[in-house]
Amino acid sequence: DNAQNLRQSDLAHYMHPFTDTEALGKEGGARIITRAEGAHIWDISGNKILDGMAGLWCVNIGYGRKELADAAARQMNTLPYYNSFFKTATVPSIELAEQLAARTPAGLNHVFYANSGSEANDTIVRMVRYYWELEGEAQRQIIIGRNHGYHGSTSVTASLSGPHMHGQGGVPLPGFSHIAAPYLFGADTELDAEAFGIQAAQALEERILELGADKVAAFIGEPVQGSGGMIVPPASYWGKIQRICKKYGVLLIADEVITGFGRTGKWFASELYDIKPDLMTLAKGLSSGYLPISAVIVGDRVANTIIHKGSEFVHGFTYSGHPVSCAVALENIRIIADEGLVENAATVGDYLQTRLRDLKDHPLVGEVRGIGLLGAIELVQSKSPRRFFETKGEVGTRCRDHCFANSLVMRAVRDTMIISPPLMFSKAHVDELLEKARKALDSTWADLCANKIEGIRHVQSA
Ligand code: PMP
Repeated sequence: DNAQNLRQSDLAHYMHPFTDTEALGKEGGARIITRAEGAHIWDISGNKILDGMAGLWCVNIGYGRKELADAAARQMNTLPYYNSFFKTATVPSIELAEQLAARTPAGLNHVFYANSGSEANDTIVRMVRYYWELEGEAQRQIIIGRNHGYHGSTSVTASLSGPHMHGQGGVPLPGFSHIAAPYLFGADTELDAEAFGIQAAQALEERILELGADKVAAFIGEPVQGSGGMIVPPASYWGKIQRICKKYGVLLIADEVITGFGRTGKWFASELYDIKPDLMTLAKGLSSGYLPISAVIVGDRVANTIIHKGSEFVHGFTYSGHPVSCAVALENIRIIADEGLVENAATVGDYLQTRLRDLKDHPLVGEVRGIGLLGAIELVQSKSPRRFFETKGEVGTRCRDHCFANSLVMRAVRDTMIISPPLMFSKAHVDELLEKARKALDSTWADLCANKIEGIRHVQSA
């Protein structure tokens, strides 16, 4: 409780074994965050830092909302825990399920709780395979995901994620397949965005036919890909994907762990792209990260089969539907609704997207893209012809460190800088963010021109 009085180095002993404790508090080492308010965090040395990542795409309502702490305390004092295993439920878990069923797209009416996005997606894999077993098509086992997709870090969900998550620890497991992402800027194509969207979706049909439609259980996608590089699909993409899923009876899973709860300017990105998923996963913004909780929202097609044809689905976690997490999530949703944070994300998001375009003239910036309060700045070695850095990620990491030195948190996914701030962001916050981002880009550019970045010797002066 005396964190403010401790020096960074005093805390080094207590850190996770995989954190570079030697470097703690030193140049390039982990920074210790001690408090937060609104859209800002403070480190142990008292530096005030603008959080352009809302924690890890999760603190949608912003920091320091006492209402959530009070809701947690009230629930702790009333019923701190009860499970969902003995034909039991709790009042907050039921109220939250009602809210989720009411707010998610029509037909998604059944809620299964878990504790993280990974657990929710892991649950979905078992659930859809069980569904097909009950439907007498047990051979439908394969789930198709996408390159640059991210669905979690368990063995199953890392397998579901794109190849950037594969290759360590026996991942991918068998039973998963991946198609290209609708990543126009990364593609070598002459097509316009809409034609490219159709072509990218068509890859799903080709893969289904290659594998055999009777082997494919489901397709999973984030409506806008997040951790894999912030990829916004062309408008034509999701409609075509849905027509293909329908044609072959393949279940459609929308992973709205990042996009849910207002980030794109709608409550769920499924509304934005008119996606009607059979199942949806939610986490992060569900509690604005104040406590761990996630949910699988199951549509009637899958739920009715499991309820009417199945025996008990033997699956659940000790902390599924934890009453304190549910109470916090309910208060979080109340704040998002009462304070119009989804509408704010739409308005301030439009401003962010417009202002982001001002960075296009920067010699390092190949593309800016985004939607709502999701933004990305992709850095390139050369604009024309477009050439990516061969030192994949070095320059992005350097830029991220410059941001941090300028009191701004932005994430680097390889050489793409990611913006995903709290939804209570104002236009003044956007101005502050972009001013700091431009400074970081200038410093990174200066490093490049001075050949200070390892592995990059020749820089085109653009
Ligand atoms: N799905 C998506 C789209 C995510 O972005 C993440 C986390 N970044 C996850 C799933 C996994 O969530 P968690 O880290 O809570 O397990």
